[in-house]
Amino acid sequence: MQEKGTISISTENIFPIIKKFLYSDHEVFLRELVSNAVDATQKLQRLASIGEFKGELPDQKVEVKVDKKAKTITISDHGIGMTADEVKKYINQIAFSGAMDFIEKYKDKGGESQIIGMFGLGFYSAFMVAKKVEIVTKSYQEGAEAVKWSCDGSTEFEITSAKRDEIGTDVIVYIDKDNKEFLEEYKIREILNKYCKFLPVPIVFGEREETVKDDKGEPLKDKDDKPITKKVPDIINNPNPIWTKKPAKLNDEDYLAFYKELYPMSEDPLFWIHLNVDYPFHLTGILYFPKIKNELELNRNKIQLYSRQVFITDEVDNIVPEFLMLLHGVIDSPDIPLNVSRSYLQSDANVKKINNYITKKVAEKLGQLFKKDREAFEKKWESLNLFVKYGIITDEKFYEKAKDFTLLENVDGKFFTFDEYKKHIEANQKDKDGSLVFIYSTDPEKQDAFIQSAKTKGYDVLKLTGPLDNHFVNTMEMKLEKTRWKRVDAESVDKLVEKDEKPESVLSKDDEEKVKKLFEEAINDKNYTVQVEPLSPDELPVVLTMPEFMRRMKDMQKLGGGSPYMMMGDLPDQFNVIINANHPMVGKILKEKDEKKQKALAVESFELALLSQNLLTGNRLTNFIKRSIELLK
Ligand code: ADP
Repeated sequence: MQEKGTISISTENIFPIIKKFLYSDHEVFLRELVSNAVDATQKLQRLASIGEFKGELPDQKVEVKVDKKAKTITISDHGIGMTADEVKKYINQIAFSGAMDFIEKYKDKGGESQIIGMFGLGFYSAFMVAKKVEIVTKSYQEGAEAVKWSCDGSTEFEITSAKRDEIGTDVIVYIDKDNKEFLEEYKIREILNKYCKFLPVPIVFGEREETVKDDKGEPLKDKDDKPITKKVPDIINNPNPIWTKKPAKLNDEDYLAFYKELYPMSEDPLFWIHLNVDYPFHLTGILYFPKIKNELELNRNKIQLYSRQVFITDEVDNIVPEFLMLLHGVIDSPDIPLNVSRSYLQSDANVKKINNYITKKVAEKLGQLFKKDREAFEKKWESLNLFVKYGIITDEKFYEKAKDFTLLENVDGKFFTFDEYKKHIEANQKDKDGSLVFIYSTDPEKQDAFIQSAKTKGYDVLKLTGPLDNHFVNTMEMKLEKTRWKRVDAESVDKLVEKDEKPESVLSKDDEEKVKKLFEEAINDKNYTVQVEPLSPDELPVVLTMPEFMRRMKDMQKLGGGSPYMMMGDLPDQFNVIINANHPMVGKILKEKDEKKQKALAVESFELALLSQNLLTGNRLTNFIKRSIELLK
């Protein structure tokens, strides 16, 4: 038999277009061909299981071979194969129209980035790298004859009879001169590892050495006591990854081992969620919560997206809610439209449902863990809080579920839920308007003086030192009614929780004015606003505070990103300098006759306040030390 024909199309040659459009993503050709081979293998298995195929099932493996000399890559399967008619139908018509559809969709889109990670070009993607492709195939059907199809990248094809005894298909790709890299073994291995790692049929690439073992499983040794090895086909994939199994059949070790398989260099995760939905869409997968020790580690291991065990991409934006992008693991869904652009994905109804489902599952899992073992949950909070807070900030639905298990940690390492915390501070931290004041520290080390003052008042101080806590505070202030959040150094301690009654001042109004003037002249810097206030005599003589509102503006500005305060340009650090009217030293400074000494004392006490906050540096620090020595003399 010999037949020639023309693939019927309007464009006279689609291959240059294929090459051009998929320029940056050539390697997917191998994924397409190997998944076709896997499909054909599974189809034969199915036919055998229902009795349609009665012969003995041939070796159910797919093999990939590189022949550097002949400049070919061959993908061999023992699947259902094709008759001559089927080749004409599936390859010349169906596969071709698939390729045409693809090009129709993308020919105006230009940007290559949109096409990366796309799916669906199928068999013809081989022409991205080939000058010629041959198919040698024999159908499983009784009496079927082997055929060879061949096409050199023009629209002409040729079908002839071929010699082949076993059923199945070889696809032989003749690599063109621009794509020689694909004749390198390491390159092919890399691509197979990326896309085919979890395909459901064993994929063989080359051979590897294996030690020979005796009946008891002990390695056999030769006369020099060296282990005896033999060459065995190297199977590069794990055909039964655990996400395809029933959770009830798996234990912790299975999940941890799979994590290591995905990310060999990583520490064990905190815990995981096995996803499994049939309706209204199909989705399976496992999401792991990593231990997070520093921000640099974020995102290093990405979530991998599969479609029926074929790797698609690790760019899962839109499919996974943004706040869960920090998770690791796999998601497998045939229902995610993979051959469309990103902007389309955002509005896709299935994708939205998947998003909501994942959010719900994660919230449920966290809720369960919290209920089941609170102590363990608290231990994991350091890593977990990032996800939870990110979720609360960005996702209203998540907040509704998370508000019962979100924890607040105080500077003494005690944990509270929102409700528990409200009760905890109710008696002591309600201000004159009936608002509860949540006092927090962003840096307990630096803010220690303030924390100690707050504690002497019986106040509780929260530890909010994480990268998202700024946003978290803003969000929570809006969500929790009648609460105010203040950093511990936002005010002098007496004003943190504002009361109606004012403490008495030992200074007269006149003297307070004098003190104010004196310090203003001594400090002489418009970024410091001097105020005289009657604090407890136990407090420092001078306290520096940064008003909550100002500070949050600055923090937002630092974070950038769409804050309305961005318009204001770079804000300098602005402080309130609170002079404690009731401190004996302030009285002493006021009475000092020697003007020079008076000023020196004012500066000294101001700089002590700077010092207590680690703000005394440079020239100021040098002068401070010199002057201190003078004063001590
Ligand atoms: P798709 O796989 O999306 O259907 P392809 O262009 O990759 O599109 O393939 C077209 C058709 O050619 C397949 O649906 C299948 O019927 C047939 N085919 C491709 N490769 C093989 C193979 N190795 N064995 C049997 N049939 C195949």
